[in-house]
Amino acid sequence: MTALINLLDLDPAQLVAYCGELGEKPFRAKQLQRWIHQLGVSDFDSMTDLARSLREKLAGRATVSSPAVISDHTSADGTRKWLLDVGDGNAVETVFIPEEHRGTLCISTQAGCAVNCRFCSTGKQGFNRNLTVAEIIGQLWMAEFELRKTQGIAPGQKGERQITNVVMMGMGEPLLNFEPTVTALKLMLDDNAYGLSRRRVTLSTSGVVPMMDKLSQECAVALAVSLHASNDALRDSLVPLNRKHPLSELMAACKRYLEFAPRDFVTFEYCMLDGVNDTDQHAQELIQLVRDVPCKFNLIPFNPFPESGLKRSATARIKAFAQRLSAAGLVTTIRKTRGDDIDAACGQLAGEVQDRTRVHERMQKQVEYQKKFGANFGRIVEIT
Ligand code: SAH
Ligand code: SF4
Repeated sequence: MTALINLLDLDPAQLVAYCGELGEKPFRAKQLQRWIHQLGVSDFDSMTDLARSLREKLAGRATVSSPAVISDHTSADGTRKWLLDVGDGNAVETVFIPEEHRGTLCISTQAGCAVNCRFCSTGKQGFNRNLTVAEIIGQLWMAEFELRKTQGIAPGQKGERQITNVVMMGMGEPLLNFEPTVTALKLMLDDNAYGLSRRRVTLSTSGVVPMMDKLSQECAVALAVSLHASNDALRDSLVPLNRKHPLSELMAACKRYLEFAPRDFVTFEYCMLDGVNDTDQHAQELIQLVRDVPCKFNLIPFNPFPESGLKRSATARIKAFAQRLSAAGLVTTIRKTRGDDIDAACGQLAGEVQDRTRVHERMQKQVEYQKKFGANFGRIVEIT
């Protein structure tokens, strides 16, 4: 028996092609896509406007399945975090952040990460593997319809959209898993799927310069860049990818991206690390660095984890730093820490079910993945 095809893996064009293979017209693909992505239905028999013969064909050959949920926690502030099983002892996390006028889902693109930033617990796990399209879009599919269920709306019923914004800021570097990430982005934007506007979908990258250019051509969504440092020496030590793509290249890439972006600014994320990157001199240097890149700053108070040896900047320091940037005309926000009672804050997404005994294997994969991109992202730090 041949394996079932997971329809969550297919982008709109591929679904049309698949329906063609089954002898069906293209509009059937649109109907199918709406049942799956707009109504949350995975059982083909419930897709009542499809001919019985098609439903039967699908039931024997296809499936609609997202990664299994290992745990589901809701924080006191309403933030909800799911831990998802992606096989072989690996788990990734998806976090929903409700706000007054929007609901944001933070999704993961890789199990682990090869970039190995000094302040990030995902990086410290090593790299395991790229997520598939179904595993990426499946996070949005699962979360949207779980949230609707919580509101009393069953699959197949029309309901108010719960997730209005998506940020690729969970585990992994999305631009080092390019094709599946772009396919998932296309589904997010497609009118017969989630129909989100490009402005409401943000991809965050540590600065994979060539892939930023590729993204601008293939699917220009809003862009966030994890900056974290005001000069190359400092950034080399915090974000090892900087050794391959230094700040001058990164700033030029941001400017090129903006020619195609849905917003007229890049968001720079800056993790506030006590005594490392948070002085007034750093702020001054930063102002010079970004002087000709239209941008906004988002300061993220560092979320500590034991192996990092780093500390969060004091609140007064973060405010003073923000003040300096604002005074230079840079729109600056300080990110509120949400969901930290359930370990759902930035950089805390570690997949607690990770099998620690296989850490050497993952570190090996991290080195191999770095080699594949011709990069030396620096020292591999082992967790004990
Ligand atoms: N790999 C991508 C996207 C995932 S990380 C990237 O690096 O941009 C999402 C954001 O969380 C990044 O800005 C990252 O620098 C930040 N982050 C990682 N670890 C953190 C920590 N411990 N505390 C605060 N922010 C952290
Ligand atoms: Fe990877 Fe982003 Fe973490 Fe750096 S901050 S290790 S790029 S997930």
